[in-house]
Amino acid sequence: MLVHKISEVKEKIKEWNGLKIGLVPTMGALHEGHLSLIKKAKETCDKVVVSIFVNPIQFGPSEDYDKYPRTLENDMELCNKERVDLVFAPSPSEMYGENIRLSNDNLTYVCPPFFYVNKLCGKSRVGHFDGVCTVVLKLFNIVQPDCAFFGQKDAQQVIIIKKMVKDLNVPVQIIQCPIVREESGLALSSRNKYLSENGKKEALVLSQILNNIKACYKKGITDIEALKETAYSYLTDKHELEYLEILDKNTLEENQNANENSIALIACRVENVRLIDNIYLGEI
Ligand code: AMP
Repeated sequence: MLVHKISEVKEKIKEWNGLKIGLVPTMGALHEGHLSLIKKAKETCDKVVVSIFVNPIQFGPSEDYDKYPRTLENDMELCNKERVDLVFAPSPSEMYGENIRLSNDNLTYVCPPFFYVNKLCGKSRVGHFDGVCTVVLKLFNIVQPDCAFFGQKDAQQVIIIKKMVKDLNVPVQIIQCPIVREESGLALSSRNKYLSENGKKEALVLSQILNNIKACYKKGITDIEALKETAYSYLTDKHELEYLEILDKNTLEENQNANENSIALIACRVENVRLIDNIYLGEI
């Protein structure tokens, strides 16, 4: 069932009183990565809500908000196949009001701590995680789920959301799901649609670099600079590296040496498409 209005969601969840509700927040253009979250939600909850909303306040002025793929019909087919109970696809004005100026002098934002946002994706995408936390908290308030499902693909995002939930006593359990990849190793992403066939091949360097770092760590190299240096042989002028970091997987703290709690994270542009990926170095 597809609804566009907050009031329709509220009606539905009233009917579900006492049942365990799972929410899978997405921006649509659904792929197997999203479906893995939906499947996990179906396994663990009585009712599953998928939200599909390309959230304007998490995009910077020069980012791809306008051209972000919007494929609601296909998304509905996939959701129906997975027996999703409710798809909530609001308009920006339904979420933020008519003619509202979406700036933080006019709208209440959730502002995650600087320590978590001044690195990785937050460094180049200033204000991005304010936009993410704000919309996620709004979705939690609208849907009132017991559990919400997020992918490890967006590792910084799920860490920041866990922090928000803890700091603001939000009564929602955050469930993190593993990265789904193509057989080639490429992490699935709605933005892969922007890549040419050749670009998709070039994009394999992200997972190759991460796998190689993990292999080197397993062989006993723990010095972070030494591990990061192993990446350079993979990069050509087709790749514009934005960051490669090895941090603590729970706190995003820097260590001098990698350990079983380390995560390697990469962002790299290929054909001017910004791609991200990450890998845990220890056993999960
Ligand atoms: P998005 O539509 O890009 O906002 O993603 C919605 C949710 O799907 C987020 O929690 C993402 O982390 C998750 N997701 C996206 N791609 C993948 C993937 N390849 N594997 C697992 N989860 C993913």
